Amino acid sequence: MYNPKSKDANEFIDNNEVIESIEEAKKLVNDAQYIEKILEKAETCKGLTHREAAVLLELEDDAALEKIYKSAKKIKEKIYGNRIVLFAPLYLSNYCVNNCKYCAYKCSNKIGRTQLSQEQLKEEVRALEALGHKRLLLEAGEDDEKCPIDYVVDCIKTIYAEKFKNGSIRRVNVDIAATTAENYVKLKEVGIGTYLLFQETYHKPTYEKVHAGPKKNYEWHTEAMDRAMLDGKIDDVGIGVLYGLYDYKYDTIAMLMHAEHLEAAAGVGPHTISFPRLLPAEGVDYKSFPYLVKDRDFKKLAAVTRLAVPYTGMILTTRENAEFRRELLDIGFSQMSAGSSVGVGGYSDTAKKVHEGLEEKPQFNLADHRKPMDVIKGLVKDGYIPSYCTACYREGRTGDRFMPLAKSGQIGNFCLPNALLTFEEYLKDYADEELKVMGKELIDREIQNIPDARRREKALSYLERIRSGDRDLRF
Ligand code: SF4
Ligand code: SF4
Repeated sequence: MYNPKSKDANEFIDNNEVIESIEEAKKLVNDAQYIEKILEKAETCKGLTHREAAVLLELEDDAALEKIYKSAKKIKEKIYGNRIVLFAPLYLSNYCVNNCKYCAYKCSNKIGRTQLSQEQLKEEVRALEALGHKRLLLEAGEDDEKCPIDYVVDCIKTIYAEKFKNGSIRRVNVDIAATTAENYVKLKEVGIGTYLLFQETYHKPTYEKVHAGPKKNYEWHTEAMDRAMLDGKIDDVGIGVLYGLYDYKYDTIAMLMHAEHLEAAAGVGPHTISFPRLLPAEGVDYKSFPYLVKDRDFKKLAAVTRLAVPYTGMILTTRENAEFRRELLDIGFSQMSAGSSVGVGGYSDTAKKVHEGLEEKPQFNLADHRKPMDVIKGLVKDGYIPSYCTACYREGRTGDRFMPLAKSGQIGNFCLPNALLTFEEYLKDYADEELKVMGKELIDREIQNIPDARRREKALSYLERIRSGDRDLRF
């Protein structure tokens, strides 16, 4: 029985409710007036119910899809402006006790296994800092013996403790397996930013089919965010579907139901939604997955998500190629990874690549191989402001303190100046001559768009201070 407030995964992601939503949507999709009404509602930034979103997911004709894309872009610009926040994943360990069919780290794969020592981690962090990164996403396979929570906690402490000429890593987000309430408390105590855990698929029979090992427990996995938020007191969580495992309509509707559940049960919805898409990887029989998502459908489902949860950050991964990423940014994504390595020790190359005679392999094959500076140049050319901002987390604007700011439309007043300040830092510390010229032009232009005169003045004075050597100034 569908109940968004229930703590039982089978009730807040009720299979019948998802199926009924799809069936109802098939009947309503030809009602042009109703579609208009949904789009009008979306443009007021009130969000959509999963049933309304289901109707938009049924749309197929180009003209209707164009309308959705336009609305998605408008909403993103209204709430967050044209900044794109950048981050990098950092792999700690590829030991894993699970045997997920879609992942190169599955335990049946004969690949070299390794884990960063604290010294190797420092090397990685130095290499990432030298690329300009301030916000990291830690990744690790599930292995309570080889990669226990205390190891992850030590890694977070090591990262925050590293200080460089140009600053430090300012926000550490964590993507590790579903765990206990006690372990979430440990992550909270050590100051994680967002806790991310992808559902992979909400379709229980498929979920159980593609998983083996502790991760196969659907309820334990799907209820993890409740433990993280309600028991672990983690303010910000990030969810996501691995598109390609099951029908994208089913999974998108269920993901929106998950967001509705978190809002109902924890008082605040997901801070971010990521959109990984199944990719070829070592030992993965990619072609055997019958639900691979086409670009056109992927773009549609992302835009519909933007309309449905306007205040949630949307994360684009380097799984998409550069050209398609550009198209996707236009329909509402607000964060992206840049210059990613998806292997252990991939940035500094200090970790050995062969372990016990076996070669290490990346978790999946990347599609965007550009260096961060090239990603940034691409963003600037397309009129976006690259941002290394981490201000909200550090100013305590998280969880239920963040959402009112986003919902009242005020967050843009923070995002724009903070994006410009962190971009100015990047220009001073890392950029080549070409980017310095492009960046100055962009900052001079965009600073005039800060609506509040006092805030604009303050931002201008902060910019001057950064140019004279100050760092980490923020709103
Ligand atoms: Fe392990 Fe995660 Fe890969 Fe599954 S998806 S095999 S849990 S690393
Ligand atoms: Fe993100 Fe807050 Fe910075 Fe905006 S001001 S980019 S919401 S951290």
